Parts: sequence; C-alpha cells; structure tokens
Amino acid sequence: MERREEVDRWMENSWTGADHCAEGEEARLHRAFRAVLCAMPDEDFDRFDAANPTVICQPHVNASVFSYYVSVPTGVQGGRVNVIYFSPSLFRKTDKNLTNVVAHECAHVVLGHYENPATDSPRAREQEADDRSASWGFRRTYTKSKFDQLP
Ligand SMILES: [Zn+2]
Repeated sequence: MERREEVDRWMENSWTGADHCAEGEEARLHRAFRAVLCAMPDEDFDRFDAANPTVICQPHVNASVFSYYVSVPTGVQGGRVNVIYFSPSLFRKTDKNLTNVVAHECAHVVLGHYENPATDSPRAREQEADDRSASWGFRRTYTKSKFDQLP
C-alpha cells in the first residue's frame, strides 16, 4: 500500500477527537499530519502505525502524547489507547509552524514516549523528539533558551 493511502486509512480509523477544532482547522491538521507521515522513513512510520494514536484537540493542554490503559467489560477486548493532544491555540500558528509541532509530537509517538512519561528526563525526551523530527526535514520546536528551562 502506498504511504499516502496508509496515512488516509489511519486518519479514517483513528481520528476521533477534534471537537474543539473548527472544520477548516481540522483540515489544516490533516494536511500537517499527511506532510509529516509521508516524510518519515518506513521504519518510523511502522512504529507510528503500530502505536495507532488517536488525536484529540482540547483546550488547556500543551501539545503532548500520552497512553491510557482502558479496562472494559469481560468478553470485550480492552487495551491501551495512545493519544496525541493538541491545544486549539495550535491553530494560531502558521501552517509551517503547525506542521513542525505535529512532526515533533509524531516523533514522540515513534520514539514510544507515550509510555511512562514521568520516569525519564523531560529534557532528554524533548531533545530526542526534536532530533528525530529534524531528521525528517522539519524544524525543531525548542529554542536553546526554552530547552534550557526544562528539568
Ligand atoms: Zn515534546
């Protein structure tokens, strides 16, 4: 399957929570994800695809990735739900900067950062995510001074 078709399949199946996105804004987010997911090498896309994250736009959050264990009634398959959160304030950014943030959050997913986020050094994780998204051709989201403020 072509990468673009795989990306569309993911968006159709896993794109659940964009309640706080206006329609035009959601289309911008789709374009950004398409650009990012088509730019990464197969190995990284396979990791992203395996994590199968859900995208949620929600006020009062910073862009982040997180994993939840969902328990369900007996006989129904439960499991882990991986989520990429975006704040609607994301849409105040230019398309280019919005895409850089999407690339950074996708890098967190590819690197498995949605698991146990509290146990590692935030600085190491942010550095790693920016390094990975830069390797796909996107701009880093952290400036040196912003980066130095991280624990
Ligand atoms: Zn980050």
